[in-house]
Amino acid sequence: MTPLSDPSLLLAELDPDRPWDLRLLTLDHPHLPRLRRNEIELWKQCAEKHAGALLGVEVRIRHVGSMPLGEFLRRGLSPKEREDLRRWEFPLEDYPRAMESLSRALREGRDPPDPQGLLPLPQDHPALHLGPSSKPQENPLWEEAARFHLHTLARFLETRLPGGMPLIEDPLWVGARTWERLASKQEGIDLILTPLPLLTTGFPVSLPESLRGGVNAGLVAAHSGPLQGVVVFSSYPFLGRDEVMEGIRGSPPADPVEIMALCLIHELGHLLRRWGHAWDHPAGCPMKPSLDPDYGSWAQRVREHGPCRLPHPSMRTFQ
Ligand SMILES: [Zn+2]
Ligand SMILES: [Zn+2]
Repeated sequence: MTPLSDPSLLLAELDPDRPWDLRLLTLDHPHLPRLRRNEIELWKQCAEKHAGALLGVEVRIRHVGSMPLGEFLRRGLSPKEREDLRRWEFPLEDYPRAMESLSRALREGRDPPDPQGLLPLPQDHPALHLGPSSKPQENPLWEEAARFHLHTLARFLETRLPGGMPLIEDPLWVGARTWERLASKQEGIDLILTPLPLLTTGFPVSLPESLRGGVNAGLVAAHSGPLQGVVVFSSYPFLGRDEVMEGIRGSPPADPVEIMALCLIHELGHLLRRWGHAWDHPAGCPMKPSLDPDYGSWAQRVREHGPCRLPHPSMRTFQ
């Protein structure tokens, strides 16, 4: 169980034959890259089409509103909640302690992947290029992943936007745990599109998150509404053009909207089918998470593979 989850939110099964109407809120920020209005329309349409083909569910996404990001964040959390959330952050100011606790958390594994599905990583994976492990008797992947993760977060914190303002004003505002909390409090919203990076900046953590340098495309937050969850989706991994993002992902993809739609399908698989991560499924299964912040190659495999007919593990809760 995670520190923020509520055991009363055990997931009920949903009828896969029922059409779903998802209400989308978009958040805007003048200095962050974002989708234009027509691209948001296209993203919704692509996701609706892929949800039918890949998940077997009929979905309609309705854009019900937009809000300035700053206002959403300011209103979203009380000072007490902010203080609580900071307790789960990595101690980034104390690198050796952060390394040790993060590496231990990864070895213990929140979401233990099937090693066959995970290893070996491609030889050009960025996490494998940070030097040899200091403890070769252990699986070096945990150490490398933790180092890569902390190194990437530290570099994101130093990153400035073209206008000179920091990309991350406060690590709290990009933390995945923060967004779980923010989303859980929304009324009348099933899907939030944010232009900020959505980073794993604290515990709990899983190995894929660390291998992606803490970068996430989306998450499902527990909610007390009928779907029991709200999807938070970040456009930053697809549209971000800063040096760190380009370093770990490469140039921005030519077709970000289509890739974003396929990545949203992974989150809708969690939300609407209650499917968990399918580590032992072949590459191209939408429920097998990307181990790479370059979501373009993951999306390409999903597109080529088509629907995955294997049974998917069930989720018990959204965290
Ligand atoms: Zn997932
Ligand atoms: Zn599958």
